[in-house]
Amino acid sequence: MVDHLANTDANTQRITMVENCFGTTGQPLAVQGRVLVGEGLLTKVCRKKPKPRMFFLFNDILVYGSVIIPKKKFVSQHIIPLEDINIEDLVDDDGLKNRWMVKTSQKSFIVCAVTPFEKEDWLKHINRCVEQLMEKTGRKQSTEHAAPWIPDKMTEICMRCTQTKFNAMVRKHHCRKCGFVVCQSCSKQKFLMPKQSSKPLRVCTLCYDKLVEHQKKELATEVDALSTVGNATMSSGEDDSDKSSDEDKHEQWMNQDPFFLEDHPRSSFHT
Ligand SMILES: [Zn+2]
Ligand SMILES: [Zn+2]
Repeated sequence: MVDHLANTDANTQRITMVENCFGTTGQPLAVQGRVLVGEGLLTKVCRKKPKPRMFFLFNDILVYGSVIIPKKKFVSQHIIPLEDINIEDLVDDDGLKNRWMVKTSQKSFIVCAVTPFEKEDWLKHINRCVEQLMEKTGRKQSTEHAAPWIPDKMTEICMRCTQTKFNAMVRKHHCRKCGFVVCQSCSKQKFLMPKQSSKPLRVCTLCYDKLVEHQKKELATEVDALSTVGNATMSSGEDDSDKSSDEDKHEQWMNQDPFFLEDHPRSSFHT
């Protein structure tokens, strides 16, 4: 569909622009055969609140980042290979319209467009790019995905024990397996989930038990007795930083930018 753009000057210029906007904070994006299919400012549902993020759809990757200066400077670049992406269409929720979920093995999150038409455009293009990439490479789309994090404000009590009330002193934590908001005592353990991280991650009591159970079964069936045991480790009690690197700062420009304040679609696709 877009392969004819691969060696055009327009495509090269567009990719260079994206690289320049991320500057030294981003990876080189110009790769033989890569096409920038579309781009746009979407709202990403983050832990604390929905935030604007600039998204770039290429024929093999999805890139997004925070906006420091619209059309000029972006930071916190994230690159997701398209074969790791599954899209789930979602119905409108109070306040969150035109939304869908981007599911990946490392994390899953919800994004919203301004209009239903803009959403349709994104879904159509993402799905088509994924399909074409799978066709071209013969690889299979990943089916294992991380649970999306339930936003902090969705609950004021621990979603596991349903006893602990959160406040300024009692912090909210997220289980990396189920995405629930849980208290410290319901998420004391960590578990190694290699698809998500090379380090053990915070999990809730229920998920921990399930993971250990599952691991035991797997080990039991494994003939190789030397395989690694003890992926499960106790939490050191230290804060394992629920602070998510990309979910912060730099949104001052929104209040000044007339473009952002207007309620019109902010995406464009190249054909
Ligand atoms: Zn709890
Ligand atoms: Zn859990």
